[in-house]
Amino acid sequence: MNTTTAFSTALQKTGDFLSMTRANEWSLPGGGFSFEVTHQASKTNSLVTVLETGLITFEPINRTSVHDIVLSSAVHGNETAPIEICNDIIGQLIRGELALAERVLFIFGNPASMNIAERFVEENMNRLFSGGHSQDQGQGAGLINKERHRALLLENTVRDFFEAGSKLVAASGKERQRSHYDLHTAIRGSKCDKFAVYPFLHGAPRKKSQLAFLNACGVSTVLLSHSPTTTFSYFSSNEFGADAFTVELGKVRPFGENDMSQFVQVRETLTKFVSGQELELTPYQASDFNLYEISQVIDRHHENFSLTFSDDVENFTDFAKGHVLAIDGDVEVKTQQDGEAIIFPNANVAIGQRAMLTVTPTVLD
Ligand SMILES: [Zn+2]
Repeated sequence: MNTTTAFSTALQKTGDFLSMTRANEWSLPGGGFSFEVTHQASKTNSLVTVLETGLITFEPINRTSVHDIVLSSAVHGNETAPIEICNDIIGQLIRGELALAERVLFIFGNPASMNIAERFVEENMNRLFSGGHSQDQGQGAGLINKERHRALLLENTVRDFFEAGSKLVAASGKERQRSHYDLHTAIRGSKCDKFAVYPFLHGAPRKKSQLAFLNACGVSTVLLSHSPTTTFSYFSSNEFGADAFTVELGKVRPFGENDMSQFVQVRETLTKFVSGQELELTPYQASDFNLYEISQVIDRHHENFSLTFSDDVENFTDFAKGHVLAIDGDVEVKTQQDGEAIIFPNANVAIGQRAMLTVTPTVLD
């Protein structure tokens, strides 16, 4: 039996795509493969294609679908809860226990960093999209590393996936909806346990139906971004018009130590979405949400950089106007408005990179 056949046989038997991915950090020897599965309850068939390590698609055969769905996790390798949720759904699909109604691409972003239980090996992948893999990110121009190659591969994989969906539009005449939920967990605790970042839409209206979907996932705090970034979700939103979000689902914990009861809503909503079950979304109401917009992007400019608050200060903790948040060289970095709150603080970033964001409450237009 050759290597590819052995992989295919093992995966069809166990459905455990995560173990196969972790055993092959950067590539699958022998390349990709595909096989068909039969979903038991619906007696329908789907094509399963393993494109590369950590990259797997599911496509209904001889059935019309309307959504092209990307579910990515492990862009930061130690953010385990969404990885476990996705692997569980993948396993149910491969074993035929769950029906498939839509085209779905699952991505485990950075397998090598999962294995060392770190956010990344050499470089934060969520700064490497929309061409960020080819830019100077503070470590000198022309840097090449495996995470940059992987980011380029993920870009190309998402592009191919969405473009293949467009060909189905030509064949069926049916409009398709593209979505990409990039699933994370945060380094520090958060006053808002789960939250999402809605990428910059260049003036296009935010979709209340998408906020209703996030709410069904247990996410009612949403940060509206007002500028282009090099995140994975902005890439899919900007280049392919996908409804795309960075979704933070709680606090980082090691594999097997997540309290999965915290994730019931997101697991059930994503399962229903891929399998075509009724989502029963509660229509958008402003009072159900905490919406924020970015006030300041605080980059680290000096070797001598420190935050003035402790590591256990939670995301979305707010400060009065004029409060000193960080010391950067000789410069005091202060809040500019009352109620300005911090998120994603990290003093240990490379010089020139983002050390923190501040946000203020906002409303939808
Ligand atoms: Zn993350």
